[in-house]
Amino acid sequence: MIKSCAEHIELAIDDFIEEFEISPNVEALQSGAGICRYCTGPASYQLRIEEEAAERSELP
Ligand SMILES: [Zn+2]
Repeated sequence: MIKSCAEHIELAIDDFIEEFEISPNVEALQSGAGICRYCTGPASYQLRIEEEAAERSELP
């Protein structure tokens, strides 16, 4: 999972696709819910693997 501020969201999406070879689900974050991977400022977005893939890997 990658967290990013609004400024670095495009960079984050590119990195996500490189790392996971899948397009991310981009979710808005509450302020203070994390830090940007690139500038360590407050993150505005969280990039996750899409539901289908996540369900498979999150089985108990
Ligand atoms: Zn940033």
